Amino acid sequence: MIPLVDLKAQYASIRTDIDAAMQAVLDQTAFIGGEELKQFEAEFAAYCGAKACVGVGNGTDALYLALRCLGIGPGDEVITVAHTFIATAEAISLTGAKPVFVDIREDTMLMNPDALEAAITPRTRAVIVVHLYGQPCEMDRILEIARHHNLKVVEDAAQAHGAYWQGQRVGTLGDVACFSFYPGKNLGAYGDGGAVVSQDEDLIRRLRRLANHGRLEKYTHEIEGVNSRLDGLQAAILRVKLRHLDKWNAGRQRHAAHYLEALRGSGVKLPMVHPQAESVWHLFVVRLREREHLQARLKEQGIATGIHYPLPLHQQPAYKYLGVPEGSLPVTEKVASEIVSLPIYAELTTQQVETVSKAIQTVISALQNL
Ligand SMILES: *Cc1c(COP(=O)(O)O)cnc(C)c1O
Repeated sequence: MIPLVDLKAQYASIRTDIDAAMQAVLDQTAFIGGEELKQFEAEFAAYCGAKACVGVGNGTDALYLALRCLGIGPGDEVITVAHTFIATAEAISLTGAKPVFVDIREDTMLMNPDALEAAITPRTRAVIVVHLYGQPCEMDRILEIARHHNLKVVEDAAQAHGAYWQGQRVGTLGDVACFSFYPGKNLGAYGDGGAVVSQDEDLIRRLRRLANHGRLEKYTHEIEGVNSRLDGLQAAILRVKLRHLDKWNAGRQRHAAHYLEALRGSGVKLPMVHPQAESVWHLFVVRLREREHLQARLKEQGIATGIHYPLPLHQQPAYKYLGVPEGSLPVTEKVASEIVSLPIYAELTTQQVETVSKAIQTVISALQNL
């Protein structure tokens, strides 16, 4: 059996350190706030090359709080893609602003900067770029467009911890960046968790206040806020795991290179990485018109696959109210009907990558001989 992701194998490899870190938090009863959280925030900011970081409850809250601290609210439009997890758009509508979806590029499956430019109206205040599957968006062009139209740029880096654009880590490319530590992410907690990083220390200070009932000191609530905090146990776990992140990302990169080599000319469309980007391969996504057939045949051989994501946001029941007609994001819609995610995680063996690749080649040869 080859699963899509194997959290047990990862835990087994770091068990002693994780168990000790958790025990230390239990002994100190430092469940909310505390030294582990403070240290993690400093270490994660340093990892990203950012000036400041604040831990929050999850990645969705990270996006929502970031938009709030940029002053986004009712009457505003925020541009993003429909080819992403729903959290990206939920965060926009939670502020009272309107999500505006633009199309993606077919090769990278990331935001098309031309589509971004074309969607800007006098109400547009911000853009959320989604570094989907571990690959950074085309930041030069996007930042240039944003600067020209006075838009704030939020990075949804929930799938891209440690990825680079032109040698610069995601998290420092826009005005503010949002991370998720959902267990299956490249850096995952053992529960929900998230973080916001920025070069703007004042923004992080305001976000810390908003996320903690509007206070920086115990009994003075300067504003009404929310409760969205990264807890001590998760921070301690993340500190242990952060030390392994580069090695784990390198493992994913090695497996991705192997898949790209083994599947060249096989008949599946392979993911393209922009020459100026370094992906951390949260997902390895190929495309095939007969993808249901491929998934079924692989499943018979014990190989798990996934689809990220089968129904674009503008076609979800939840966003019917936006009235975006089918066919208006043609590349997004086409890509969504063809994508298949293959197993990728650091602990995967070279042999397993080979097994998956061979199985795909066999399925496609059989299809071509029909
Ligand atoms: C996981 C994810 C989120 C949301 O993170 P949670 O921690 O689950 O709230 C947001 N955007 C993208 C692209 C994601 O993959």
